[in-house]
Amino acid sequence: MFDRLPPTVLTPLLLPEFIERKIEVWIKREDLIDPEISGNKWRKLKHNLIEAKNQGRKTLLTFGGAYSNHIVATAAACNRFGFQAIGIIRGDELNSTSNPTLQKASAYGMELIFVSRDQYKNRNDPTWLKFLEKRHAAFVIPEGGSNALALKGVAELTEEISINFDYIICPVGTGGTLAGIIQGIEEGQTAYGISCLKGESYLEDEVSSLAGNSSRWRINHNYHFGGYAKFDHDLISFINRFRAETSIPLDPIYTGKMMYGLIDLVKNNTFDSGSRIICVHTGGIQGIAGFNKKHDDLIEV
Ligand SMILES: *Cc1c(COP(=O)(O)O)cnc(C)c1O
Repeated sequence: MFDRLPPTVLTPLLLPEFIERKIEVWIKREDLIDPEISGNKWRKLKHNLIEAKNQGRKTLLTFGGAYSNHIVATAAACNRFGFQAIGIIRGDELNSTSNPTLQKASAYGMELIFVSRDQYKNRNDPTWLKFLEKRHAAFVIPEGGSNALALKGVAELTEEISINFDYIICPVGTGGTLAGIIQGIEEGQTAYGISCLKGESYLEDEVSSLAGNSSRWRINHNYHFGGYAKFDHDLISFINRFRAETSIPLDPIYTGKMMYGLIDLVKNNTFDSGSRIICVHTGGIQGIAGFNKKHDDLIEV
């Protein structure tokens, strides 16, 4: 039942910046898995859903912010695969009509429980988690969905890549996706994360602890544009231009920053001529509606 979603396509990205420097870039379109069971969020959910089913749980409970891709993906996946869903949402001033993300989650039947920012800080507190688990008879998935089962699902995306490559590049939020990719790659391949938030070195610690003692990876901190969900005119016009030229949509929170970073890194000759790079489009397209509502339709759709 959970393998119903097919492998995602891998297509060459033929930009002049790449061709000039003899860098071959392929994009793995995880965004096409589903409009709302978005890319890496589906990869992270898959084995959690299987485990929840094996345990006989009927309800999934998880956490997220007001614009969370993970919340929408969980709501949509639960709807599709027959689970009840509960979302603990940061911000007790919000409600289920506050923005398109919460509207979608709610339309998929997710019960939204709004908590104060202070209470939300306890999202990793074992006592609160146990309480929520018992109270709702729920299978609990952490914020952002990064646990061992999540990493296993992400590693599966690397198994779908049937060509050799030197680098695989992805955006980094919590680091769970990068860690899963690291688990899936082989000797001679490097996983290259572009941080989308001002993570400094705690992200490296996080990925180390999730991915074990691999040295086949690094995180670049030069393309976060000031931090999580921060942006400037340059980033927005890049995203709009990229879509016009390639027909590939990018979101302003994650994949836009990754792609901006990748092109800039290639221009700066970071990768040897002749390198082959896989770029993972992790999805996140559902977030554009909420971003546009908040920021005057900046992203062209
Ligand atoms: C959540 C998300 C990420 C970040 O993934 P992490 O595993 O938290 O690093 C990247 N891209 C998109 C589109 C996301 O929704």
